[in-house]
Amino acid sequence: MLSAMLTQHGEYAAEPMRAAIIKTKIRRALADGKHRTSKQRERMTVQSILIVEDEAAIADGIAYALRTEGFSAQHVMLGEAALATLRQEPIQLVILDVGLPDMSGFEVCRRLRQFSDVPVIFLTARSDEIDRVVGLEIGADDYVTKPFSPRELVARVRVILRRLGKSANGVSPGAKPPSTFELRSKEARIAYHGALLELTRYEYLLLKTLLEHPGHVLSRAQLMDRVWAGAEDTLERTVDAHVKSLRAKLRAIDAAADPIQTHRGMGYSIKLA
Ligand code: CA
Repeated sequence: MLSAMLTQHGEYAAEPMRAAIIKTKIRRALADGKHRTSKQRERMTVQSILIVEDEAAIADGIAYALRTEGFSAQHVMLGEAALATLRQEPIQLVILDVGLPDMSGFEVCRRLRQFSDVPVIFLTARSDEIDRVVGLEIGADDYVTKPFSPRELVARVRVILRRLGKSANGVSPGAKPPSTFELRSKEARIAYHGALLELTRYEYLLLKTLLEHPGHVLSRAQLMDRVWAGAEDTLERTVDAHVKSLRAKLRAIDAAADPIQTHRGMGYSIKLA
């Protein structure tokens, strides 16, 4: 079931809008930080996520991915139940389906905003719903379109909590967050914000090479030597094409950050947060 949901969603056209939403929400979090009560701040150290979704299979997939990553996950199927839970329990983030049986996710969010600033990630099924998430001041922090990868959703949860935690009180809540990138050389895998990236061989080698020299500008020729060593007929535009596909994969997890920097006429470098 999980693998069936691991469909790469292709909403790149919507990415600038997503970045704009995230920027707005960070500003709001900065402004709201001073209004949090000490009790709310204390609660931020326990990362409990509420899933509001009437399709049990989808909710189970998200809950499984969250628990695997060390979060606590609760699930309700109705908007009323979500509001009741949010009034009574310390919840750090809400994953909110737009299409619920008793009221729309938008209505849940509107009512929620009357008593809470808890971050909300919408699950949307249709592009016209995305327009509403982006176009209206309904207080969403991010959105994910169905079908989606639960693992990618969890990475976004982590990004939002990390940002809000930092902006609210200057330090991250709870345990030390994972570093932005984690190079697992033995497995030949790289994790970004705690989510393992699905990389091709050359994407992996390219990102690994950049990560091994943080802040250093590597020319296309240097990258070709190190990444494509032994390969015949590598062209400079091969490097550019791989940088482009890598950026898309990183943006799918964190739309606002762009850690791979282009140095015109010189090459590329990676910036670690
Ligand atoms: Ca639904």
